[in-house]
Amino acid sequence: MNRPALDTATNKFLFSLFNVLLLFIGISSDVEAFQWETAKYKGQDHVTLRSLKSFYFFDKISYGADIVLYRAPSTRQGKKTPEIEMKFRSGSYSCIMNGVLFKLSHPVINNGGKYLISRIDLVKLVDPVLRPSHIKNAKPFTTVVIDPGHGGKDSGSLGFYKVHEKYYALKIAQMVRDDLQKLGYRVVMTRDSDVFVSLANRVRIANKYPDAVFISIHFNSGGNGKANGIETFTISPVGVPHMGRGVQQRDFRVVPGNRTDSASIALATAAHSRALLYLNNPKWGANYQIEDRGIKRARFNVLTGIRIPAILLEGGFISNRIEARKVHSISYQKTLAAAIVRAVSVYRKSIVGR
Ligand SMILES: [Zn+2]
Repeated sequence: MNRPALDTATNKFLFSLFNVLLLFIGISSDVEAFQWETAKYKGQDHVTLRSLKSFYFFDKISYGADIVLYRAPSTRQGKKTPEIEMKFRSGSYSCIMNGVLFKLSHPVINNGGKYLISRIDLVKLVDPVLRPSHIKNAKPFTTVVIDPGHGGKDSGSLGFYKVHEKYYALKIAQMVRDDLQKLGYRVVMTRDSDVFVSLANRVRIANKYPDAVFISIHFNSGGNGKANGIETFTISPVGVPHMGRGVQQRDFRVVPGNRTDSASIALATAAHSRALLYLNNPKWGANYQIEDRGIKRARFNVLTGIRIPAILLEGGFISNRIEARKVHSISYQKTLAAAIVRAVSVYRKSIVGR
């Protein structure tokens, strides 16, 4: 009975090889051409943080409890480059870029004094976030698909104020819609009233607009009323599981969302960082002291099935008494909506490299 097992193993190998090739379609040619210092760890391709420093022109790298890469703002070839600070920690999935938390697909490894980051994280996170103008298939757009989570018989979670998630999601989505329209965007709503829309239909609606971006708005619950903060989800790269779940064979299948996964993380970065900036700065309203739970990878239907850049933003925990009071206030809602609107323009500018 050895033969079938062997065949399966060979097929599995060829299958994953095929997907690795697909995974790197759209990779910037300069990333491909660079002589990265590489290493294998648990079968995964990694590159050293030291070679990250060289490729992205960081001024320095320091090794303490955190490994910190720093680049001062400068003007290079007539182009302004912003200040960048990236923090990693050995054994950790966290990467903090300019104060914003990203969850890596693989932990940072200390391999005999050399710190390694996975090639997937380099190609599918670091590069699109640091250089969104190099994302090959990120297209300019004038249409935004806004997806208020839940609706109708699907109420979503029940908040501390006995208001359901579907209500907050729609309210903020409508604010976002109005402001985007004022800026000249065409806005498509997956729902514009308290009606049920299946996940498949949300995917179908989004995929009707090939030159658009998709933003799903939700609110969180859980953690015995204690959990708090905002988090933004974007599609897991090929071979990377849904957040917190073990890797499964089907995670190696290329899903429609993988076609634009680099653009999606750039969009997630714009939305998540603007949300934190606006909500935690009195300049934009009040300082709501909202915790950063990070930009994370997920395999929600709306992320796997959609072929345009897509994100799902969780705008706070309505199950948490203190946070629910914030989310329930009109000023918080307006601030969050303004941040999402701003993020659309920030992302659009970032992909054309201005
Ligand atoms: Zn939800």
